[in-house]
Amino acid sequence: MTIEKELMQRSNSACELCSSTDNLSVFEVSPSNGSSEQAILTCEACNSQINKPDSINVNHWRCLNDSMWSQVPAVQVMAWRQLKQLSSMGEMWAQDLLDMLYLDEETLTWAQTSDADDDIYPPAKDSNGATLNAGDNVTLIKDLDVKGAGFTAKRGTVVRGISLTSNPDQIEGRVNGTRIVLLTKFLKKQN
Ligand SMILES: [Zn+2]
Repeated sequence: MTIEKELMQRSNSACELCSSTDNLSVFEVSPSNGSSEQAILTCEACNSQINKPDSINVNHWRCLNDSMWSQVPAVQVMAWRQLKQLSSMGEMWAQDLLDMLYLDEETLTWAQTSDADDDIYPPAKDSNGATLNAGDNVTLIKDLDVKGAGFTAKRGTVVRGISLTSNPDQIEGRVNGTRIVLLTKFLKKQN
């Protein structure tokens, strides 16, 4: 069976992100080994917007509200990446969905791995100029008021398994169970 046929079967011949049935094609979720597990079926509208973030139609991606709950890891990865993209554009609903989207460790690592990462983003650096990578543990070097969450993240708090953002001055991490954005100048990388 070809990959396309496998995916047609898995998805009931509909886009796995938005359920459209127009011009479906196989989209390899990078970095992909070319198997059907690492590919999804997408429609033309999804496909073209994934490839050209500039042309993104925000409302189209409300479809992720449903598709992010897919059991297929490759779909979860694409939902995560698109929500990340949308929330970096200031779409609060996308951030809310992202907060609800639970990926197991392996899938999250996949979602955070992009072929183009190094080209797009300048490296994030901590207060000492050490390069921060996704998954690093960092320590806060001062008390930080967390706006909107109503607590202070204390100096010395360890934030484990940070995520990078498109802004080299900011990373994301979980403090008191809340996912927050942290300024890298207030962080020290743990060795
Ligand atoms: Zn679609």
